[in-house]
Amino acid sequence: CFILLLITITRLIYTVGKTEQWKTLLPPQLATLESISHKLQDDPEAIELASKDYGNLVHSFPLAVFHPSSIYDIVSLVKHSYNSTIPFNIAARGQGHSTRGQAMASDGVVVDMAGFRERRNGVGISVSFDPFVESYYYYADVGGEQLWIDVLHKSLEYGLAPVSWTDYLYLTVGGTLSNAGISGQTFHYGPQISNVHEMDVITGKGDFVTCSSKTNSELFHAVLGGLGQFGIIARARIALEPAPKRVKWVRLLYNDFSAFTKDQERLISINGRRQKNALDYLEGILLMHQGPINNWRSSFFPLADHPRIISLVTKHSVLYCLELAKYHHAQSQNNVNEELQVLMQGLSYIPGFYYEKDVSYVEFLNRVRSGELKLQSQGLWDVPHPWLNLFIPKSQIFEFDSGIFKNIILKRNITTGPVLIYPMNRNKWDNRMSASIPEEDIFYTVGFLHSSGFDNWREFDSQNKEILQFCNDVGIKVKQYLPHYSTQESWTKHFGPKWNTFLERKHQFDPRMILSPGQRIFNNN
Ligand code: FAD
Repeated sequence: CFILLLITITRLIYTVGKTEQWKTLLPPQLATLESISHKLQDDPEAIELASKDYGNLVHSFPLAVFHPSSIYDIVSLVKHSYNSTIPFNIAARGQGHSTRGQAMASDGVVVDMAGFRERRNGVGISVSFDPFVESYYYYADVGGEQLWIDVLHKSLEYGLAPVSWTDYLYLTVGGTLSNAGISGQTFHYGPQISNVHEMDVITGKGDFVTCSSKTNSELFHAVLGGLGQFGIIARARIALEPAPKRVKWVRLLYNDFSAFTKDQERLISINGRRQKNALDYLEGILLMHQGPINNWRSSFFPLADHPRIISLVTKHSVLYCLELAKYHHAQSQNNVNEELQVLMQGLSYIPGFYYEKDVSYVEFLNRVRSGELKLQSQGLWDVPHPWLNLFIPKSQIFEFDSGIFKNIILKRNITTGPVLIYPMNRNKWDNRMSASIPEEDIFYTVGFLHSSGFDNWREFDSQNKEILQFCNDVGIKVKQYLPHYSTQESWTKHFGPKWNTFLERKHQFDPRMILSPGQRIFNNN
């Protein structure tokens, strides 16, 4: 009993001491946050962590890191800033998997959503169904701080799963919904932002608002794809459907870009929830003579086949790999094999270069994780990542191929990391949402997912700039995904006809320009 009392008193003294210490160290604009100041941390370790991200290219130092115990702590923090004479910036930091400081807050406060997730200890996700809507529907109510991998595991306990994914699942719900959340399912089910029924959002005024496409719809549409500019996502209601059991996963090789894109476009033309014979996933990857056949995103090709694939890549310099998947719900593979055969009739891949796997649904969705763990064990995960992700209108994809894949990339000869290329259907996106995409019915996403050394990332950056310059010079109407622009003019161009709405919504929901300053749209810090 005496020992317990002693421990409690020591803890109390330590906590009070720590609180006092933080208060005295905190700058004046934060020191007045009486009720929550003990949740602000400004020791060098915390500051250092919040000034880094996956990109490892830029560093902005916040004044403090905020560790909320509840959503209402975040409300208090935002309200405090909003009501201050001089407001301070606030950035929610999910996993910090941005590449250009988008989740940083120079001289502001970073909200540690990852720590919040741990403190919630598994209670941030609940799965339900609503029998009162016209079509009986299932959903998960998910904290914005939660990881998609945990949403997957939790919903699978009920035999359900979300339908739209990212390639990598250790990203937060709030982080991907602030961008769009795209992957091979997007052509069929839309991006993740098209699969949200409702959200709780803390606006830049500190208001806690529940919104959907019917209630407070302006905020709902602003936040989805809104780059964190209008509010912090506290909860999202994600659409669920019965989960498949297994996945038939296929890769086909092409040396002809025209045949490759024609087949991709034909396959994505069959889509929609009612189309039972549609594919469930379609992507594409470049294989280049300077890069490995398998990479961290997935190892697929059997070792015995590497020599013949390598000699084909050497012969053509660039190969295009079409990657597709069809889910199956029953244990029997017969139906899925037949459906796939029908879908693949007439495809023009190089004869004999067909590869397939049959894997569990979780193994398929979580396919990037093993590569990540391997890189982590080699100390190669936390290196610089000068990524460039683009959306390109279908009508200009040939110019992109000849000018960039077959010219800039081959000449510079530095790209070894994954380069993704796959098409999507514009009608699966909701134009009322903030995400900005090309005007055409079909557009491609191209992702240059470079990893580099600390000494040579600028070479990749310079290649990225050359790619963008080329697009600009020849008039390719490219838009960045996970965008990073440095001028107001580029942001205006990025949002195009949506810019005025974006601006009005900013004035309505975050008039003091507090939220997500690291996107550098309104505050160029
Ligand atoms: P952060 O980087 O922490 O934050 C991103 C932005 O969102 C910041 O502006 C931040 O302030 C804001 N934000 C964070 N949480 C909230 C919240 N709760 N409410 C409001 N705003 C918030 N993207 C895809 O679409 N498809 C992919 O397949 C894909 N694969 C990836 C693979 C890897 C290995 C990595 C590193 C990234 C990948 N991404 C992909 C990109 C990813 O979607 C973005 O990095 C995204 O920002 C999610 O990361 P995060 O959760 O760490 O968010």
